[in-house]
Amino acid sequence: MSKQYAVIGLGRFGSSLAQSLTQEDNEVLGIDINEERIEENREAVRHGVIADSTDEQAMKSLGIRNFDVVIVAIGDNMQASILSVVVLKELGVKHIVAKALSKHHGLILSKVGADDVVYPERDMGQRIAQKLMSPSIIEF
Ligand code: ATP
Repeated sequence: MSKQYAVIGLGRFGSSLAQSLTQEDNEVLGIDINEERIEENREAVRHGVIADSTDEQAMKSLGIRNFDVVIVAIGDNMQASILSVVVLKELGVKHIVAKALSKHHGLILSKVGADDVVYPERDMGQRIAQKLMSPSIIEF
C-alpha cells in the first residue's frame, strides 16, 4: 500500500525527492513558502500548497500529523529547518526526516525530534566515489 508523504521545501533536493515519490505512485504533498516553487513543480508533484512550515497553525490546518512521513528539505535557512522540526514534533508527526547541511545542523535536528537526518551532499559524494571505484570490466 502506498504511503502518504509531505515534502517541505521544494528546492533541488526536495523537488527531486517529491517527484520520485510521486512517480512511484505515492500520495505526495509538496509544501513551500514560495509560490514560484509550487508552480514550478505543479505537474510533477500534483498536490502543492503555499505555507510556512514554522507556522504551527498552518501545519495543523493541513492535517500534517496524518502523513506517514514528513520530510523537511529546507537547508540554507537553518533556523527555519530546526523550527519546522520542532513544530512537526509538537503536532505529533509520526516520522520526521530532515535534511542537514552540516554535522552540527544534523545534531540539532536529531535533538529537537527528527527521526532520521539525511546529508544529501555527503551521501551523494560517497555514492559517486563508490561508483568511480567499481570495476566496469570483471577481470579473471
Ligand atoms: P537545495 O539545495 O535543495 O536547492 P537549499 O539548501 O538551497 O535547497 P533552501 O534554499 O534553504 O534550501 O530551501 C529550499 C526550499 O525551502 C526553498 O524552495 C524555500 O522556499 C523553502 N522554504 C524555506 N523556508 C521555508 C518555510 N519556512 N516553509 C516552507 N518552505 C520553506
